Amino acid sequence: MGVVHDPVWPRDDRAAQAGPRLTGSVQADVCVVGLGGSGLAAVDEALRMGRSVVGIDAGPVAGGAAGRNGGFLLAGTADFHHDAVARLGRERAAAIYRLTLRELDGLELALPDIVRRVGSLRAADSEDEMADCERMLAALRADGFDAESYEGPEGVGVLLPADGAFDPLARCLHMAQAARSEGADLFEHTPVSVGSIDVTTPAGRIDCDALVIAVDGGLERVVPDVASRVRTARLQMLATEPVPPRFARPVYARWGYDYWQQLPSGAVALGGCRDLFADDEWSLDPTPTEPVQRALDRLLAERVGLPEARVTHRWAGCVGYTDDRMPICELVRPGVAVAGGYCGTGNVLGPLCARTALRLALGLPLDELTPLASTGASASAGP
Ligand SMILES: Cc1cc2nc3c(=O)[nH]c(=O)nc-3n(C[C@H](O)[C@H](O)[C@H](O)COP(=O)(O)OP(=O)(O)OC[C@H]3O[C@@H](n4cnc5c(N)ncnc54)[C@H](O)[C@@H]3O)c2cc1C
Repeated sequence: MGVVHDPVWPRDDRAAQAGPRLTGSVQADVCVVGLGGSGLAAVDEALRMGRSVVGIDAGPVAGGAAGRNGGFLLAGTADFHHDAVARLGRERAAAIYRLTLRELDGLELALPDIVRRVGSLRAADSEDEMADCERMLAALRADGFDAESYEGPEGVGVLLPADGAFDPLARCLHMAQAARSEGADLFEHTPVSVGSIDVTTPAGRIDCDALVIAVDGGLERVVPDVASRVRTARLQMLATEPVPPRFARPVYARWGYDYWQQLPSGAVALGGCRDLFADDEWSLDPTPTEPVQRALDRLLAERVGLPEARVTHRWAGCVGYTDDRMPICELVRPGVAVAGGYCGTGNVLGPLCARTALRLALGLPLDELTPLASTGASASAGP
């Protein structure tokens, strides 16, 4: 059997049917551009506030990274917690960590069939990395978060019991269906250009009071205002045929560059190696490449220990990276707010930032979401 060049996550046939394209003009209180996990969270929040909502995407729902990722549900930011404390200060880093833990609780409650709260393991592949794991463990414990030393079949490192895994595509398809049934107009396969507070499409226009742009990969193209601070990278993955149970929880190793998890079906989904080809992987093209896929094959055989497992899927997706490893979450013009640039970890952080962006666009107080708002422009992109 051949290899499928698509994510391992199955698209439900009914939900996968394309939504309408937007032709003509529509008006709504809130417009959300980008129907991944983040944009759909903003749609949901706007509906809860009683606003009329239009959501729009250049492709299908979750056609971007939101439906093409590794399915890890990790608390915190892209930084390990001790690094986040050093960068953001203890109070802000801990506040964000708490928000992400609460987001995880909410996800588990809302989608019990999809979310597996099995924890995650940061595995150390060297003495240096083990020492860094100790620093991470100490910082997490100092702030009262659950974390344990781990030594077992999956390696040595830090176990984060509150983390988990899910089917990222199923989350988005579920959210889109729920939003439509709550009255949101969601348009697919309609690329937009963003104006001052209006949005134009090849054959139409959206007028709104508040605009949220929730785009991770390719954000610099949609919102040139932030182009100097975010840069798009391609991340690649593969998945195997089902193998006997081996990995109880998602594992990330080599400073987080490599990651794998075993799905309920027994398939192993594995990604990483981007840093080994960093120059080539700054790309807006979500097509897997031969050199990275060969490196993933070696990772599967040598580090993960599955040299015989047949590969069934190979795919890639694009995400935004920032210099300071913090998302962009800010107002770019009155009524227009942006969320993106999650540096490879947007499944939990993305929805939080998109809800924060919604409040910014509507001019509402951020309250407890304040720590997520960008603190201002930094230097040029290119971590
Ligand atoms: C291979 C891979 C593995 C990853 N693994 C993990 C992981 O395990 N855990 C984790 O937390 N994160 C992971 N990530 C990162 C995570 O997938 C993303 O941060 C997150 O999904 C971003 O979701 P989003 O909704 O913000 O943006 P996106 O998924 O980028 O969605 C934005 C949407 O905007 C649309 N769009 C763009 N431009 C326009 C336009 N001009 N007009 C209209 N629509 C437009 C796109 O079509 C897209 O659907 C991974 C990413 C990849 C690629």
